[in-house]
Amino acid sequence: MIKLVRGFKDILPADTALWQHVEGVVRELLEDFGFAELRIPVLEQTELFARSIGAGTDIVEKEMYTFTDRGGASLSLRPEATASVVRAYVEHRMYAKDPVCKLYTIGPMFRRERPQRGRYRQFHQINAEIFGLHDPRTDAELILLLMTFFGRLELGSVALHINSLGCPECRPRFKDALKLFLAGRPEEFCSDCLRRKDENPLRLFDCKVPDCKEAMQEAPSILDDLCEACSTHFDDVKRSLDRFQIPYQINNRLVRGLDYYTRTTFEVLGESLGAQDAVAGGGRYDGLVKALGGPNEPGVGFAVGVDRLMELLAGRAQDFEKRPHIFVAAIGETAQDMAFEWVQGLRLQGVRTEMDFENRSLKSQMRRADKLGASYVVIVGDRELDEGVAIFRDMATKEQEQVVLQEVVGTAVDRIRTSTVGGES
Ligand code: AMP
Repeated sequence: MIKLVRGFKDILPADTALWQHVEGVVRELLEDFGFAELRIPVLEQTELFARSIGAGTDIVEKEMYTFTDRGGASLSLRPEATASVVRAYVEHRMYAKDPVCKLYTIGPMFRRERPQRGRYRQFHQINAEIFGLHDPRTDAELILLLMTFFGRLELGSVALHINSLGCPECRPRFKDALKLFLAGRPEEFCSDCLRRKDENPLRLFDCKVPDCKEAMQEAPSILDDLCEACSTHFDDVKRSLDRFQIPYQINNRLVRGLDYYTRTTFEVLGESLGAQDAVAGGGRYDGLVKALGGPNEPGVGFAVGVDRLMELLAGRAQDFEKRPHIFVAAIGETAQDMAFEWVQGLRLQGVRTEMDFENRSLKSQMRRADKLGASYVVIVGDRELDEGVAIFRDMATKEQEQVVLQEVVGTAVDRIRTSTVGGES
């Protein structure tokens, strides 16, 4: 038997209804917040990721699925979406029409990390990006959107961490302070950290090696080195969050180790997720559009890890499973033909309807209706046909009533519409 590739997974029908629910909630919310969907390819030139994520990052150095195309080009499966969204913003000159642009995209990402709970080689993200706005309320608006999304999903216990990374003006001071810190204790760091420390010491905050993490606990805080403009920006973001009573923790270890990232960074942690506890992350990247050949427009965005979100929602899949509203149990050829017409008529009116074509016994059809979780069963056999009626059985109350054959479809539609008013069933 040929099996799944390690780190990849199937999302089975028992779970897809919940995925669709989550996607439905977020699409509606994103559109209310003024975002439009952008669909980007899963494959890009490797160079795009090397330039945006950074050639010296774990993602680019070790985790990308990269291959040489038959034409000789180096291509990679996308490990994240921001680079592609920025590429599209620049390539299609979206900024020329309006520099302010709010885009979202949903889809799979690929990183060849070591698979473990909450970490897959194909995983899914919801990405939202805003271009063209410097105002700190924009950063807060994105966080607000994220927290509203999690609130609508009734996610339970999540913690928002925020930090500021400063800007090209104040960050060099902090980098110097970091280098000095490192110079005093090189033996505490792994070889990757030591190799990367000169080109960008901020990457050390991203290292997953436990000893490095431990050593970085004592590193200086970037918040002590912010310039006045960055400090004011950060205060304004916090003020907006306070205004909407969004609780947050300041985490001065929360860093994206690239020069394109500026000022606000944030992460949302799910308390029950274990080691891989970040369910979403984001921040401002005011230099990235320019670095990828576009105008000097700022950007800010986030990515939600949908697989981890699903883990936080575990056990809720049944609530969203689409069970049939009506199961038609027909016995005998004539009844089966008539039932087939009802089924088609009901489906055309948006009523989820099933029947059994195999002409099995009533008992076995009732068992199937029960197994599928149908709300009502319509029973029709020779006797009912003679009497010109069908039996309507409410599977929850077990009550039965007779309905004349011509009114079966209309009655079923009415029943389902009344029972679904105020919520999906
Ligand atoms: P990043 O692009 O690394 O900032 O990740 C954004 C979000 O994507 C994280 O907060 C995770 O929820 C999710 N994520 C990143 N890598 C993986 C992975 N290998 N497997 C599952 N989810 C991931």
